[in-house]
Amino acid sequence: MLARWDEEGTFAQLREQNRGGPIFSFMDGPITANGPAGVHHGIGRTLKDVFQRYKASRGHELRYQNGFDSQGLHVEVQVEKALGFNSKREIEEYGLARFARDCRDFVAKFSGVQTAQSKRLGMWMDWGNDYFTFSDTNIEYIWRFLKAVEEKGWLYKGHRSTQWCPRCGTSLSKHEQAGEENYEELEHPSLFVRFPLRGRAGESLVIWTTTPWTLPANVAAAVKPDAEYGRNDVGEWVAVEPYPDEHFEKRVRGSELVGLEYDGPFDAFPAQEGVVHRVIPWDEVSLDEGTGIVHIAPGCGAEDFELARLHDLPVLAPIDESGVLLPGYSDLEGKTTDEVVDPVIESLRERGLLVEATSVVHRYPVCWRCRTPLVFRVVDDWFISAEEIRQPMLDGNATVEWTPPQYKKRMDDWLRNMGDWCGASTSSRSCTARGSTASSSAARSAAARRSGFPRSATRGSTPASSTSRRSAGGTRSGSPAATRPAPRRGSPAPTFPTTPIGRSGSRPTGSRRGGRRFASGSTRSASWR
Ligand SMILES: [Zn+2]
Repeated sequence: MLARWDEEGTFAQLREQNRGGPIFSFMDGPITANGPAGVHHGIGRTLKDVFQRYKASRGHELRYQNGFDSQGLHVEVQVEKALGFNSKREIEEYGLARFARDCRDFVAKFSGVQTAQSKRLGMWMDWGNDYFTFSDTNIEYIWRFLKAVEEKGWLYKGHRSTQWCPRCGTSLSKHEQAGEENYEELEHPSLFVRFPLRGRAGESLVIWTTTPWTLPANVAAAVKPDAEYGRNDVGEWVAVEPYPDEHFEKRVRGSELVGLEYDGPFDAFPAQEGVVHRVIPWDEVSLDEGTGIVHIAPGCGAEDFELARLHDLPVLAPIDESGVLLPGYSDLEGKTTDEVVDPVIESLRERGLLVEATSVVHRYPVCWRCRTPLVFRVVDDWFISAEEIRQPMLDGNATVEWTPPQYKKRMDDWLRNMGDWCGASTSSRSCTARGSTASSSAARSAAARRSGFPRSATRGSTPASSTSRRSAGGTRSGSPAATRPAPRRGSPAPTFPTTPIGRSGSRPTGSRRGGRRFASGSTRSASWR
């Protein structure tokens, strides 16, 4: 059949026959030219072909132009793999121009493969007259679009929390990090730390973290408003649920703790100057792990960052591109996130803030390129504000005929909730921003969550977010009841910080691992006995 169409010039005859007919302008959403087309592409291409054939049979003149998506990580990552590169630096050493040429060659190769496949499928298109997104024309139109956006005052520089590989010195997109193979079982410190409450002598909050390097960037502590919290006989506050056998002298709802101020764990650091630490409400606080009080460091985690927007918290970004602590963190400056573990623990112990330090094994994201454990960083980014364009787009959508029709509502919902659009990130060695830098925080927060800002360990997809590793929640791999021993009164051993179960999706973790500790155990002997 294909040969006959070819011999008789059937497609060319059809176009000639319909020339001058009513226009049906088909706009092809481009296929990414980063590999051979799959079965799912075959389905989409068949549907497109059906519509075009129908319109052609009705006498319409069609615009048969196929498109190839030829830019971005979808292509670059494949080329990096083909070249055996492991880092952004290797690309720079190889030469950006040379790398870009390789990417173009890669696209040329697979656009050819996909064209042959599509022809074999019987799809009628103006093959050879394809558009490519990397064309100068397209790029010029994108710049023209940005210029218009800038002139309307919609372009602004904001901040974004992103997964970051300290070795590669680059952020990692969800696209790059997708896949089970990008997680490993890793052992990390497990710290229970006391935050003394201001104006309440002898009372403190107790939090749990597996990221000691985030403690110097702490600005808040989150509680679950409707959960019950208790104060034990040495003045320590935790959620009641995780400690069913504990004796609490006083019990209150989390909402009653909201607003209390406390001494931060590293208030003496210059970076902490002027920061007022306070308790904030957060419905997502999990009672399955930790103490039910979550340490919040907006510069070190996606959820923390969103909370900063909601509660106007300061954002302290403690590490640079290489995962090294910045000036402002005193003697920790210049050390990596691993190297600060011991000094942080030691400092907390000396000041009587350490409840317990042990270790935990959990499922943790690693860089797909180099297997380095990821961290979260806050980076500068360009955003396009959605506020002014939202209503015109809603109005426009109302006039569109969608097929199937229910997609109109879906688009409407998306437009109502869309956050500001995030463009390319700029290099940022450090930034200190208010969480409220950007506008429409609530909408953006909601959008960000929906769009998959790593949310929490509940999906087993969250990396180094300090929050996630504290609040995990989710599946109870390993019974928490079993792994969370009740405080043993009269015992000299620290028992309050029960062994946290791992992040969900992880194996039963939380282990004391044969007694191994990052520090020499509890520094306190007064409480939980
Ligand atoms: Zn890496």
